[in-house]
Amino acid sequence: MVIFSGIQPTGRKHLGNYIGAIIQYVAGQERADPAIYCIVDLHALTVPYDPAELRERTYDTAAILIAAGLDPDRCILFRQGDVQEHAELAWLLSSVIPLGELNRMHQFRDKSAAQREMVTSGLLFYPVLMAADVLAYRATEVPVGDDQRQHVELMREIARRFNERFGETLVVPEMLIPEVGARIMDLQEPQRKMSTTGGTQSGTVLVLDDEKAIRKKVGSAVTDSGKQIARSPDKPGVTNLIDILAVARGVDQEQVEREFDGAGYGDFKQAVAEAVVQLLAPVRERYEQLRPDEGTLEGTLAAGAEKARALAVPVLADVRERMGIGAR
Ligand code: ATP
Ligand code: MG
Repeated sequence: MVIFSGIQPTGRKHLGNYIGAIIQYVAGQERADPAIYCIVDLHALTVPYDPAELRERTYDTAAILIAAGLDPDRCILFRQGDVQEHAELAWLLSSVIPLGELNRMHQFRDKSAAQREMVTSGLLFYPVLMAADVLAYRATEVPVGDDQRQHVELMREIARRFNERFGETLVVPEMLIPEVGARIMDLQEPQRKMSTTGGTQSGTVLVLDDEKAIRKKVGSAVTDSGKQIARSPDKPGVTNLIDILAVARGVDQEQVEREFDGAGYGDFKQAVAEAVVQLLAPVRERYEQLRPDEGTLEGTLAAGAEKARALAVPVLADVRERMGIGAR
């Protein structure tokens, strides 16, 4: 089993990333050989950004991932831009994917509609690069949050079409979405997902928030009318908090509902805040120790890139051979 997943070094990583993706990454280290995790700086160029800040955020993200439990001896952790095979494969794969498929991607539609500055062609091309990320390693599993469903479906389609057109070469990967917490919602606007780029500031709990900030954000989370602490489509705020508490405590949602049956929203939110503090405080503490040492972080990413390249190069050679690119 080969696991691959990518995470953007944009903005600041939040509770949705932690629950939807990072927890699965850590667990994947036990199951996969290898588990490959990539900080996708090339994806970050698709929205307006500052080059100096991109480097800083890349180190931030690397330090968060290691602090959360990724062990560079048990997984491959690297920076996308260090392995040029990703960009090359994205171009090669573009030949089997019609423009119309990219045009109908929700993420492209949402992000391009929200964009006030130029909408880059990279934003449209994003899912092709993402397909290349995964297919370059013949990964069998892709742990992601619910928002990436459509992109993973598309990469599966790209792999199938490539194999049909050029002969069996690429592996069609399976999507791995957590049962609970695949879509953590913004605490202030629980009808939309918690997000680095789109959400509200007070509704987004950051992995690096201190205890006070976490308590404040969770305490002022929007709850719904009524008093019941139960999941329901017309109670997106309460449902979201139940999911968060269930994951943070490692119990199922029914257990949370039973425990808080008849309790008030105040007590419930306090319990959620406490559980999130317990979940994130150790990560923040380790982060504080790791982040200042950029030399070590850079060394870790460089060593990871070396291992990643060794896996991607032969796959690219097969793809090029099949496509008639370069000498025989
Ligand atoms: P952006 O909004 O700029 O796309 P993001 O918050 O989605 O940023 P990414 O780095 O794109 O962050 O996502 C990293 C991983 O986190 C992906 O697997 C994604 O599916 C997952 N993820 C993102 N937001 C959530 C969320 N609200 N709930 C659960 N998982 C999420
Ligand atoms: Mg995203």
